[in-house]
Amino acid sequence: MKIRFSLLSLLFLISFCSKSQNAVPKKKYKINKTNSEWKNQLTAIQYYVLREAGTEVAFSSSYDKNYTKGVYVCAACKTELYSSKHKFDSGTGWPSFDRAIKNNVALDIDYDIGYARTELKCNTCGGHLGHSFSDGPKKTTGKRHCINGVALKFIPSKK
Ligand SMILES: [Zn+2]
Repeated sequence: MKIRFSLLSLLFLISFCSKSQNAVPKKKYKINKTNSEWKNQLTAIQYYVLREAGTEVAFSSSYDKNYTKGVYVCAACKTELYSSKHKFDSGTGWPSFDRAIKNNVALDIDYDIGYARTELKCNTCGGHLGHSFSDGPKKTTGKRHCINGVALKFIPSKK
């Protein structure tokens, strides 16, 4: 009996362990491309930011001070991510928004610099955009979406 019991509990443990691994599936995105496909499509800096979660140099993006009306789409897959309506001057040197276009930006947690930060990703292709912080405009959402300009493409509105 004792042997049978431990064998059963061992089996149980094995199945429990494999289940817990399956419990955290990698998020599936609508657009999935291999690294070499992305490399062919994107510039070197776009690839570094979007696919390797890099950060562009502060104040390097012309979008930082762009206040023209329009929409910012994902540089990789053209999904609409941010509206000029929600852009503000954060003074950080990166284009900043107080919110994303609903459902089009995914939130994730990363620990790249030792503590938890909310990573912002394109919800269609999984491209890294930037991070969300809680020091945004208090009058609106209080959030600051700190976005790499190279991850975006600006489409001015026609009016
Ligand atoms: Zn995208």
